[in-house]
Amino acid sequence: MARISTIDDVPAGTPMAVSLRSTRELVTGNWRTFRPVWTTRPSPCNLDCPAGTDVRAYLRHVADGQFEEAWRTILEHNPLPGICGRVCYHPCERHCNRQGLDSAVAVHAIERAIGDEARRLRLQVERPAPSNHARRVAIIGAGPAGISCAYHLALRGHLPTMFDAMPEAGGMLRYGIPPYRLPREVLDAELETLWRLGVAFQGSARFGESLRWEDLNPYAAVFVAVGANRSREARVPGDNLAGVRSGLEFLRAANAGTETALSGAAVVIGGGNTAMDAARTALRLGAAPVTVAYRRSREHMPAHPDEIAQAEAEGIEFIFEVAPSGFVNGRGRLSGVELRRMRLGSPDASGRPRPEPVPGSEFRLDAAHAFTAIGEDVEVDPFAQVIDTHGGRLYADAWGRTTRPAVFAGGDAATGAGMVVNAIGSGRVAADAIDAWLAGRDPVELGHAERVGPSEVNLFYFRPSARATQAHLPREQAVRVMDEVVQGLDALAATREALRCLTCGTCTECDNCLVFCPDAAVRHDARSGTYSADTLHCKGCGICVAECPRGAIVLAPEEQR
Ligand SMILES: Cc1cc2nc3c(=O)[nH]c(=O)nc-3n(C[C@H](O)[C@H](O)[C@H](O)COP(=O)(O)OP(=O)(O)OC[C@H]3O[C@@H](n4cnc5c(N)ncnc54)[C@H](O)[C@@H]3O)c2cc1C
Ligand code: SF4
Ligand code: SF4
Ligand code: SF4
Repeated sequence: MARISTIDDVPAGTPMAVSLRSTRELVTGNWRTFRPVWTTRPSPCNLDCPAGTDVRAYLRHVADGQFEEAWRTILEHNPLPGICGRVCYHPCERHCNRQGLDSAVAVHAIERAIGDEARRLRLQVERPAPSNHARRVAIIGAGPAGISCAYHLALRGHLPTMFDAMPEAGGMLRYGIPPYRLPREVLDAELETLWRLGVAFQGSARFGESLRWEDLNPYAAVFVAVGANRSREARVPGDNLAGVRSGLEFLRAANAGTETALSGAAVVIGGGNTAMDAARTALRLGAAPVTVAYRRSREHMPAHPDEIAQAEAEGIEFIFEVAPSGFVNGRGRLSGVELRRMRLGSPDASGRPRPEPVPGSEFRLDAAHAFTAIGEDVEVDPFAQVIDTHGGRLYADAWGRTTRPAVFAGGDAATGAGMVVNAIGSGRVAADAIDAWLAGRDPVELGHAERVGPSEVNLFYFRPSARATQAHLPREQAVRVMDEVVQGLDALAATREALRCLTCGTCTECDNCLVFCPDAAVRHDARSGTYSADTLHCKGCGICVAECPRGAIVLAPEEQR
């Protein structure tokens, strides 16, 4: 650029603030008390993804049209992007800084598009070269926690084998969540990644029955991830009648294909994931009407609001503030559910209002089927002889270490019923700990970093734009088939949505800091793509910090002289 001596030397239209006399001639001296430091800090989405995914990086790849790079970025932490893009409740979006402008980036929908694109392109992970430190590791439970642990151990060159009580791998992804939310071809394609990495699977192997502790002697370490698979019982008269089942038992049968049709009315007791899935599956198998009976009010339902809305749109009826007082016997099988009204009292241990029965308020709903879905517990008994348990769960520390050397635990079995993405995260962390233990060292503690908050991004530089929405299968079609309801974004729509990301906390070389520095004190090294301040001229005024759209610069106090 030609030397600028007077204002006339500045080319027309140049968005540059120029301080004509101070820039070269006036040095800062000892006036400056702060200096700008270019830095990379975690974005809220990165910190909030329990799987540890670098969301910001993969969104940037998608914004650049690089789906393969995006997929590989996700797979550094999570082998199941197509699955998480569908069923993860996306805590990564909760504190998205874009909400200060309009609405959070639809991260989960983009993640789904990445997974689908990888499936379409048949992308594969590289199998690591055989390692001379490879050890055999047994994983009991092939749900998301076990899958994640096996994947990360295989990537580190170990030889994991997953054992599961069910014939096929997937845990709740296969036997809990119905195909209209998670098509089985997506699950099978993402499991293919593990098989290619050499992970072994042994189905129909239930620990405590066909699989015993002694059978695990050939393994150098064990990861227990058996989930929370035992349904709580309603414990009201008639709960053993034919026609009364747990929602989970019904879903297992429907998802395994052994139950294909229902007739008559169905009542589902509960307000969580299992209740919504049991109700919507019952509707698809032919039950009518299908009614969900929940003991608190709608806003206290544990199910995700999207799922409640979809159930309602499909024609499921809801009755709130009721609980079953009995199942009615009609010639040896269920003919109705007796419900009692509840009133909401003072908060219980969960912080939600305690439902209290209203005496004499009983009424009856005709029903050929009743599905109880009032929570799931961990079956700790088979493991209680081997490892410590705590509060009805398997005891494990933050690394998944139990009190017994070489035995690790994670997922719902250690935390209680939770979310897929937490199970995936716990499997990865445990794989780190197992790998470290096998090598005779401690796992590497990760430092805590502060997220870039909404006050640190400069929204002035972004235009409002609507969040992408995913189309839904029309209701009439949806309730008749198990086809996927939510239709996803195509690659173009996903790219557009990714362009809404502010890339919080890292530099994208937009040059704002350089352009707006009144002392032209910002230097750009084009080769490394980094910026720095010319400390002879930088006053530490902080204009660059304020004008950085992404919070990628902080003002650090000068050291005391
Ligand atoms: C109906 C339903 C729908 C859900 N929907 C969602 C959702 O949309 N999004 C979400 O984030 N979360 C959802 N969840 C929660 C989520 O599925 C769980 O948090 C997650 O699957 C836990 O993973 P996990 O690997 O710990 O356990 P699981 O997925 O339960 O897997 C445990 C595995 O261990 C096996 N096993 C159990 N006992 C033994 C034994 N003794 N020996 C050998 N194997 C054994 C089981 O067969 C199973 O395969 C849902 C849960 C249910 C019940
Ligand atoms: S796994 Fe869930 S929390 Fe993590 S990036 Fe994907 S949608 Fe967000
Ligand atoms: S704007 Fe992008 S980087 Fe920032 S929190 Fe949202 S998704 Fe993450
Ligand atoms: S203003 Fe632009 S170039 Fe400067 S640090 Fe921020 S993102 Fe990077």
